[in-house]
Amino acid sequence: MTTIDATRWLRVFAALIDEHTDELTALDAAIGDADHGSNMQRGTAAVVAALEDDPQPTAGAVLKQVGMVLVRSVGGASGPLYGTFFLRSATATGDGELDGPAFAAAFRAGLDGVVARGKAETGDKTMVDALVPAADALDEQLAAGADLAVALDAALAAATTGRDATIPLVARKGRASYLGERSAGHQDPGATSAALLVAAAGQALR
Ligand code: ADP
Ligand code: MG
Repeated sequence: MTTIDATRWLRVFAALIDEHTDELTALDAAIGDADHGSNMQRGTAAVVAALEDDPQPTAGAVLKQVGMVLVRSVGGASGPLYGTFFLRSATATGDGELDGPAFAAAFRAGLDGVVARGKAETGDKTMVDALVPAADALDEQLAAGADLAVALDAALAAATTGRDATIPLVARKGRASYLGERSAGHQDPGATSAALLVAAAGQALR
C-alpha cells in the first residue's frame, strides 16, 4: 500500500522552502512585512534538525514534533498556524501509518485546526485558499478509488489553482488585510508556502 513517509515529507518541504525563500520574502514584502520566507526557512530548518537529533518512531510522533518545533521557532502568524496544522494532523494520525485515507484525514484535521485558530475562510487571501482545495481534491480522489500518488497530484493542482486565485483577492485576515484594496494584485505568501507543503507530500510517497 502506498503511504507517506512523514519525515521525508518534512525534509522535502524544508528543501522546497529553501529553494523558494526569496520568492516567499518578495511576496510578503508586497503585502506584509517581508518575513514569510525567513520565518518558514527558520522553522523548517529547526524541524529538519529536530528530526535528525531526536528521531521519532511513528508518523504521528513525527508530526507532533514538527508542530511543536514550528510553534516554538517561527514568529509571526504562520508559525502558530502551521504548528497547529501539524499538531492536529498528529492527533488524527495517532499510532497509524499515513496511507491514503489516513493522510487525507490528517490533512483535513490540520486544515480544520488552521481555520479554528486563524478564523480565515476561503477567499480571505490566506494559506486556507490553497489548503481547502487540496483537502477536497484528496477526499474526492480517494473516494473515487484513486491511489494516493494520483490523489496527491490532483491535490497539488488544486492547491496551485487556489494559490493563484489569491492574486486578485483583497486580504481579510493577517497583516495583508491592513492594506485593504491595495492587497489585490498580489499572490498570498502563505498560500504559496502551503502549495509547497502539498508538493512535498507528493515527493514523500513510499
Ligand atoms: P506575519 O503575517 O505575522 O508576518 P508570515 O509573514 O510568516 O507572518 O505569514 C503570513 C501568511 O500567514 C499570510 O500570507 C497568510 O497566508 C497567513 N495568514 C495570516 N493570517 C492568517 C489567518 N488568520 N488564517 C490563516 N492564514 C493566515
Ligand atoms: Mg510576514
